[in-house]
Amino acid sequence: MNETLDITVTKTEQTRLTVTDFSQLPFGKVFSDHMFIAEYENGEWTNLQVLPYGPIPMSPAISALHYGQAIFEGLKAYRLADGKVSVFRAEKNFERFNKSATRMAMPSIPQDIFMQGIAALIEIDNNWVPNQEGYSLYIRPVMFATDPYLGVKASDKYTFALLTTPTGPYYSKALKVKIETEFTRADDGGVGYAKTAGNYARSLYPFAEAQKEGFDQLIWTDAASHEFIEEAGTANLIFVIDGKLVTPSVRSTVLDGVTRDTIITLAKKAGIEVEERRISVKEVIEGIENGRLTDAFAAGTAATVTPIGEIGYQGKVYTLTDPSTRTVSAGIAKTLNDIRYGLVPDEFGWNW
Ligand code: PMP
Repeated sequence: MNETLDITVTKTEQTRLTVTDFSQLPFGKVFSDHMFIAEYENGEWTNLQVLPYGPIPMSPAISALHYGQAIFEGLKAYRLADGKVSVFRAEKNFERFNKSATRMAMPSIPQDIFMQGIAALIEIDNNWVPNQEGYSLYIRPVMFATDPYLGVKASDKYTFALLTTPTGPYYSKALKVKIETEFTRADDGGVGYAKTAGNYARSLYPFAEAQKEGFDQLIWTDAASHEFIEEAGTANLIFVIDGKLVTPSVRSTVLDGVTRDTIITLAKKAGIEVEERRISVKEVIEGIENGRLTDAFAAGTAATVTPIGEIGYQGKVYTLTDPSTRTVSAGIAKTLNDIRYGLVPDEFGWNW
């Protein structure tokens, strides 16, 4: 970090800490006392502030609402064993945020603003970082276009905000997922690798339809053939086939997940062979049937490591190995947790 930025701090007069039940934390509903905001105008980021979390005034004409210039990130702060707070791999999320910004014709955010904004917020809301394993403070950076102008063009003005929300375990059981072969999440040349609002909007209807059929999540397949596995839409997918960790390679339609990257690094270090490549639906279904596929899980910041218990494909449901017997994903989840909570040395320098 180069210079200390001038951030105006306005503290809340009434903390909500005392009225927040940390044992009941539905994901993303309870916000901590403060937020960070910066504004982009005339080619510059200005007006950096930490202020009480709450509504911000805006015109109903802002272009984010009409044309979807909106991007976000998701990362987490953990309470370490020694009581300090650590943010996990924040630089990766910073880099991905700016990749999304470039693709959506939005300005980059300087690293100092991203990092010092998080630091300022966590300093003031330190007591909002839960002190319990499985819990963390989820940090949501977001940037959206604020020109009050209905012409279709890249906006000249933007707001960057950081919100934080204390959070507990995201999924509490093994997932029943459906391999989606009608709708698509992303296509070649599109915006699938960007964390932009529209990717999530287009997934909601297919997801709701799958929920009606009793599924918890979707597995997206490639738009051209629907024969290859891509990702889960809020998490990447990792399989264990013939004892190797196999995961779809990152491409323009797949988000380059920080958790995925972390797991690949840890697995390689543990001597597990890793293959990043295209995986066909056929290979997965046959692997379940012939016993070569012994583990499957979703990997993401919010989802952490969540086992997949059942996979639906073309009207049939396939049951995978009993999640309680899976040593690979359980081992990875434990190592990941131990690093995040500072229970083992942080040899990759991931905790900031
Ligand atoms: N894919 C998509 C589409 C996502 O939104 C997420 C969550 N950020 C992931 C994968 C997992 O990425 P990460 O491990 O960086 O959270």
